[in-house]
Amino acid sequence: MRKPKVTVIGSINMDLVTITDEVAMQGETVHGKDFRTLHGGKGANQAIAASRLGADVSMIGKVGDDDFGRAMLENFESNGVDIKGVGIEKDTPSGIANIIVSDKDNRIIIVAGANGKVGRAHVDRYAEIIRESDIVLVQFEIPMETVKHAIDICRRENVPVIINPAPVTALEDAYFEAAAYITPNEHERAKLFKMRDDGLPEHHEKLITTQGAQGASYFEEGKEIILPPKSVEVVDTTGAGDTFNAAFAVAIAEGKGIEAAINFANAAAGIAVGKIGAQNGMPKREDLQ
Ligand code: ADP
Repeated sequence: MRKPKVTVIGSINMDLVTITDEVAMQGETVHGKDFRTLHGGKGANQAIAASRLGADVSMIGKVGDDDFGRAMLENFESNGVDIKGVGIEKDTPSGIANIIVSDKDNRIIIVAGANGKVGRAHVDRYAEIIRESDIVLVQFEIPMETVKHAIDICRRENVPVIINPAPVTALEDAYFEAAAYITPNEHERAKLFKMRDDGLPEHHEKLITTQGAQGASYFEEGKEIILPPKSVEVVDTTGAGDTFNAAFAVAIAEGKGIEAAINFANAAAGIAVGKIGAQNGMPKREDLQ
């Protein structure tokens, strides 16, 4: 079977994770316990997950001209992701997420850096990659005008696009209308899709809703059907949604039906939550046989 071609247009981040008992107050300095540098960003996570699941994946995005940027490019290459569409932005830092993990809560500061420079012209330059794709995945961590432009190109070229509306951001109806599937989690769905008079959410026929340990749902003839994941031991759910999206996209591109695609995605995400780190836990195709 020919490998499906999946293109991801989105963010590439380095996650700087500080683990600490105490969180510094204003003007204060405290000692933390541990520190990790982990590859992240919803776009990069989804590209890498799709590649490990056996797709032929291209990434469209940007990194900065710095050590993080070079490490992130290497990470794509070692995971088999094509980076022709990844630009190196001069005089701009790579995107980072500063994550402080304490037993009380998580605090996250994201600096878009090069992700904020992924403009319409950059996507136009790689329109050929989009044209040749079986499916395109977008999220909301690059400028929304670029996300909209990418959806417009997919519509023009007749390439199905999956919109993963995260982090939650308003988008005009016409763009959701253009999507093949929209994949919010429950929180994003509640914020973005109003209930219609008949009790069904707007765009329900395209909605695939991830529901954590409950699995994920789709709508068939006006009824919501939830497909549960296998029960698994949960170590770290970071990147679960990204693995789900990638696996769902790969399965749809391979021609699987909606139910089979959700089952495949639940299985892949279920493996991802069993290991620490977003990309670290993402399964390979053979792990799913
Ligand atoms: P997000 O991380 O984007 O909020 P969810 O929490 O809904 O997304 O999780 C995405 C998917 O990951 C779920 O649909 C499911 O397949 C899998 N998953 C998440 N949490 C668990 C869990 N505790 N047990 C098994 N699978 C899980």
